[in-house]
Amino acid sequence: MNPAELLVMLTARTNKFERMPTGIPDITQQDLSNALALINHRIASLLLRVKYANQYDYLQKLDIRVWLKVVSMSIENGWQYPKDRIGREFYHDMARMALAEAIWPHTCLWCHGTGHIVIHKRRLRGKKSKRIGQVIMCEACKGTGRKRPTERQRARLMNIPLTTWLRRWASVYRDIQIELDKVEAIGLGALRRRLRGS
Ligand SMILES: [Zn+2]
Repeated sequence: MNPAELLVMLTARTNKFERMPTGIPDITQQDLSNALALINHRIASLLLRVKYANQYDYLQKLDIRVWLKVVSMSIENGWQYPKDRIGREFYHDMARMALAEAIWPHTCLWCHGTGHIVIHKRRLRGKKSKRIGQVIMCEACKGTGRKRPTERQRARLMNIPLTTWLRRWASVYRDIQIELDKVEAIGLGALRRRLRGS
């Protein structure tokens, strides 16, 4: 049994419990909630709640936990945040970007999956001037809302020059992503054991 798929099927769109297709044992929404609550690893349990059970009430707590995790990683590994930035804000931005990619892996980070962007700052560069409030197609995903960010886009989201990003931060960011992957694997492993036991 793959708990990730199971969770998605259990929670997709509706709260209504439906019988699973053949071969999958009867597990109710309540069993699932109980199992999630029993996972000892706090970040893992929050991540599974948000990512697979759409329990977005937990997103704020998750956001803070991941942020603190990234800050402690920065201390352990002696990362030096850019001089012109405030350390805790910088690491919060890194944490949020990694978290967004972990929860919504194929969603465009520029338009949050909507496929369009609202202009909120007057842009003087380029041929066509755009007015504030104008809605334009998201160029990053060509209006599809689906995209894995490139390193260039990650650098832009973090407001860091691409060369600096590639030289200094891309590997750090990868370490954060690996950490989140590990946390998710721990959570799914624990959930699998809990569901088997129920
Ligand atoms: Zn987009």
